[in-house]
Amino acid sequence: MSSSSSDRRLQLALVAHDAKKDQMVEWALSHADQLQKSTLFATGTTAGRINASVPDLQVTGLKSGPLGGDQQLGAMICEGKLDGLFFFIDPLSPMPHDVDVKALSRLAIVYDLPFASSPSTADFILNGLFASKA
Ligand code: PGA
Repeated sequence: MSSSSSDRRLQLALVAHDAKKDQMVEWALSHADQLQKSTLFATGTTAGRINASVPDLQVTGLKSGPLGGDQQLGAMICEGKLDGLFFFIDPLSPMPHDVDVKALSRLAIVYDLPFASSPSTADFILNGLFASKA
């Protein structure tokens, strides 16, 4: 039997700014059933937090965001390697890597990639991605 798009694992990227990392861990815990059926990538510190706190998940860690991880994810978007971006942005703190944050958000929009910036939008996007696979 040939594999259909419904057999393919979703490739998802997870990023959380420091003030949002607890929210990301909590969100990943509460969506572990769906996330463990997906292939997960994350910026370095976000990946470390999720891997330490959600034993059912195996997240591939890239560079930390400020050290190029956001740009690595941007490259994956350009190459068509991601199905969704879950990027919990802290809108209240200045970031030394603000340009990378903007670049990653911009590429998600350029490529019309499903892009969640908070837990409530992440719920909708994850459910929508799984519904469109069914
Ligand atoms: P981090 O990167 O997961 O390595 O903290 C996130 C970011 O700030 O872009």
